[in-house]
Amino acid sequence: MRGPVRFEELGTTLVHEHLWVRSPELIVEGQEKWDEEREVAKAIRRMRELVDRGVNTIFELTVYGMGRNILRTARVAEAVPELNIIAATGLYTYHSLPFEWYHQGPNTLLGGPEPMVARFEKEITEGIGGTGIKAGLLKCALENDLSDGVERTLRAVAASHKKTGAPITVHTNPSKRTGFIAQRILEEEGIAPGRVIMGHSGDSSDLDYLCRLADAGFMLGMDRFGIRFIQSDETRVATVSRLVKLGYTESIVLSHDACTHMDWLPQGVAEELAPDWNHTHIHDSVLSALLEAGIAQEQLDMMMIGNPRRYLSGVM
Ligand SMILES: [Zn+2]
Repeated sequence: MRGPVRFEELGTTLVHEHLWVRSPELIVEGQEKWDEEREVAKAIRRMRELVDRGVNTIFELTVYGMGRNILRTARVAEAVPELNIIAATGLYTYHSLPFEWYHQGPNTLLGGPEPMVARFEKEITEGIGGTGIKAGLLKCALENDLSDGVERTLRAVAASHKKTGAPITVHTNPSKRTGFIAQRILEEEGIAPGRVIMGHSGDSSDLDYLCRLADAGFMLGMDRFGIRFIQSDETRVATVSRLVKLGYTESIVLSHDACTHMDWLPQGVAEELAPDWNHTHIHDSVLSALLEAGIAQEQLDMMMIGNPRRYLSGVM
């Protein structure tokens, strides 16, 4: 977010994180209790704690539909110059499109080219809004079925990737095996699978599902450490360990999908159900558990340094 970074300087990378996940209407109407300065200070403190643990880079995957506020995120990026924060563009929807795009594009009332592609491309090549801050990543979601809106988003993200080279993260739902649907669409679009992270793959311990995606060349986002109410850390660690023993180290990336504030769950619920779901959890607890599970340090380095760099650079 502060400008270009050399691929060799990316270092230890968390591939799927957030600072704040919020609902725009609640923000505008002031229905949500929110202290801007306190929240920014808290995020800066948490990001400094990441730096203290040796993290060099985070992929900040908060996009349209999640309350992205790029200028607020930029304050954190400026205050923590030791950390690279890479911003994302794209759209987070499980169903239909925002109305600014619903009536435009192929097979719509107004027709014309897909407007999402122009927006995503502009955010990558010129900047987000008028800020000049460029996104380096593309993000979309496939939670349930392939609705018209979700399919348009996936194909728009694919087209934007082809124009810009920015890699893709798809939020998937392994319990519904939606990675396979994403695979079909992205293969139809001719996307190199090594430039795609199947996000939230770590919610699953189904090796058949995971190995089929990895065999097809996709990156597996083992990216929700600490979210115990979906999958325990013990199971997440065991699944990574089994994949490594099967030879899939080059297909695995690690992260938390954490945020410093979220209004999608009732107050206090996340703290109660997932008390250690936070940005430093991997370094505080998970890495030692992975080592104890028989994974070598150099394999951890591949998951946290080599694989994110290869995914982002496209240099295979
Ligand atoms: Zn996320």
